[in-house]
Amino acid sequence: MTKEFDFDVVIIGAGPAGSVAGAKFIQEGFSVLVLEKMDFPRFVIGESLLPQSMDYLEKVGLLECVEKQKFQVKTGVTFYHNDDVCDFLFKDRFSEGWDYTYQVKRVDFDFALIKEVERKGVNVRFNAEVKSVKTSKKEQYILFRDEKGDEQTVKSRFVIDASGYGRVLPKMFKLEEPAVTIPRGSIYCHVNDHKRTHKAGNNIFVHAFNDNSSWIWSIPFSDRTASVGVVGNVDFINECSDNSEKGFKELIKSFPGLEGRFNDTEFIFEPKKILNYSISVKEMHGDGYALCGNSTEFLDPIFSSGVTLAIVSGYNAASLAIEEMNGQSVDWENDYVDVLKQGIDVFRSYVDAWYNGDLHTIFFTQNGNPEFKRQICSVLAGYVWDKSNPFVQKHKRILGTLAKVISMS
Ligand SMILES: Cc1cc2nc3c(=O)[nH]c(=O)nc-3n(C[C@H](O)[C@H](O)[C@H](O)COP(=O)(O)OP(=O)(O)OC[C@H]3O[C@@H](n4cnc5c(N)ncnc54)[C@H](O)[C@@H]3O)c2cc1C
Repeated sequence: MTKEFDFDVVIIGAGPAGSVAGAKFIQEGFSVLVLEKMDFPRFVIGESLLPQSMDYLEKVGLLECVEKQKFQVKTGVTFYHNDDVCDFLFKDRFSEGWDYTYQVKRVDFDFALIKEVERKGVNVRFNAEVKSVKTSKKEQYILFRDEKGDEQTVKSRFVIDASGYGRVLPKMFKLEEPAVTIPRGSIYCHVNDHKRTHKAGNNIFVHAFNDNSSWIWSIPFSDRTASVGVVGNVDFINECSDNSEKGFKELIKSFPGLEGRFNDTEFIFEPKKILNYSISVKEMHGDGYALCGNSTEFLDPIFSSGVTLAIVSGYNAASLAIEEMNGQSVDWENDYVDVLKQGIDVFRSYVDAWYNGDLHTIFFTQNGNPEFKRQICSVLAGYVWDKSNPFVQKHKRILGTLAKVISMS
């Protein structure tokens, strides 16, 4: 008798969303194939995690393999604007959860996750690019080009699209929608970081400039290198990517807020540029499939939310697909879309308040309320589903109102 399905689930993409989904399925005894178009390890940007991601890595048994990598521990975020400084330490957060997380080179992090998932029993094929997908309530057909260039089709009960910036199903099924934000971009690089101070080793550093329209990050890694990047409007990023004195390398070397940390640094690779990364979708699920991670929506890198949202959505999508395959009825809109949107929308309010200046007013006030700070700290740690936190519950209005009150006082 022939088997009706090749696998219970096919996952497109071996980034954090795909690995976490794969780990969840295998935990529950489902057979899984991950198709990844690149050869791993591979570079991708998105290197500063949030404590909330640790809860989910632990749930699916992926924390140990991350801990073994000896990544740089991250205990908080430091925001700068001119001479003003505002530190958030995750240990002071309002919500229950983790005090720390990691700053990771994704080349190592993503590889460690997918290798562990493979060790647990997931079939993983690198150099396997998904070319077309046919979905229906009962059976899914996934055509991919394998490492030899041959086309193959697999049949599964469910498909998870975790293809990140590849956005396989959103493009194929015409689900893409423009993001409601002004087009921004980023230019970034890895550099040597021998002059780092102890404090700079534990926090991500974010420094606003150009009237809050641009900011610079520095993310320290455990091998005394760092990721440095600039985010801003597309025109400004294009200007930064030329080789003149206004260019990225000169900016990094001379940026006042970096206090000479990188003034004679070595650039480990030529700066890379990414433009117009913010994007949304009309639907996050359909018959036989669900989207997760960057395949759904990507807002902005300012609060390092991308990998955390990828991990949480990978976990949630897999959990619901398992229920469905077990014959239970699933309300995807309520239990998946609304939950994910809740988290995305909280971050959206903070992203908007960052660029419109409200958060600068709140962060850099001299007489900030310590309880409010703890509650905002929870959001910055990724605990955006904790509705007992007023800065989550009332996220749409509270930042604007608080900024107004501070400005008037
Ligand atoms: C400038 C910038 C800075 C950022 N900084 C941060 C940060 O500090 N912290 C943070 O959390 N997030 C950050 N992000 C966001 C982060 O990059 C993403 O949110 C995260 O990588 C999404 O993970 P994912 O698993 O959804 O997708 P990815 O990590 O992109 O993985 C998707 C995988 O799918 C594969 N794939 C694509 N197409 C196909 C196909 N046709 N067939 C098979 N495989 C395919 C790809 O090769 C890739 O390996 C940043 C983003 C930008 C633009």
